Amino acid sequence: MVELRGVSFGYQSDKNVLDNLNLRLKEGRFYGLLGMNGSGKTTLLKLIAGKLFAHDGEIYVDGRNSRKREVEILREVFMLPADFIFPDMRLEHFLAIYSKFYPKFRAEVLDDCLADFEIRRDIEHLDKLSLGEKHKVAFSIALSLGTKVLLLDEAANGMDIPARKMFRKLLMKHVREDQIVVLSTHIVQDIENLLTDVIVLRKDAPVYAASLEEIANRYSFGIQSNEEGVLYAEACAEGYHVITHKQENMDTEVSLELLFNALIKGGGRI
Ligand code: ADP
Repeated sequence: MVELRGVSFGYQSDKNVLDNLNLRLKEGRFYGLLGMNGSGKTTLLKLIAGKLFAHDGEIYVDGRNSRKREVEILREVFMLPADFIFPDMRLEHFLAIYSKFYPKFRAEVLDDCLADFEIRRDIEHLDKLSLGEKHKVAFSIALSLGTKVLLLDEAANGMDIPARKMFRKLLMKHVREDQIVVLSTHIVQDIENLLTDVIVLRKDAPVYAASLEEIANRYSFGIQSNEEGVLYAEACAEGYHVITHKQENMDTEVSLELLFNALIKGGGRI
């Protein structure tokens, strides 16, 4: 488990990006980390990965304080940054270095991912790949490292639509039950049908964290001709896309996009 207790962090002493954040991330769960640009998604991932240190509060990974940067923890946490830069190196050489540090690395996962992305295994110059190829290779490596905590920062961003589809398929295929995945994105559609939980970072409002089960038990999502009794509504061709309190005996599919919009613009009714 990853536990954040009262975590605050700011790049400038007078302004916090994250304020008194409490979160528990559990094995077998897939967290969608959502928020507008600049809301602190990358900062939060860096804090969990031990690349930044909280100014207040503590972060524990399996009960160990991440501040101590113990090898046993560092090798179980991998963050794929959005601005990942490969060195001028052969893939084989790069893997020889990385796989030594990450004991759960599985070459067969990497082979499978690269084959599905239709990328050759014998890459001579990692730094000469196209942007889309770089994202595919970096994501394939991240998945194959097999760390308990996998933090993916806008990982599907540089991919085209077929590659995004493959990205989702590969996550579903290779993420194990004992892993914790956090994927940040500002494109909600990227992670629909994949995640089990959402964490939404909001400016000037507390973080919203809930499982999809909790959301589905609390709210109904649907279309109405008017705005009566709604918690949030958005005009659409048929009337309004709405979120209401859960209607009895009515199960509806959670619309992440609507929920996200409600949380960002909805004025705190959700
Ligand atoms: P997100 O990933 O949600 O786009 P970030 O975590 O990158 O947000 O950034 C949160 C805020 O912190 C933004 O206002 C950003 O400008 C600021 N910020 C990020 N990195 C730095 C840095 N190294 N120095 C100063 N400010 C930063």
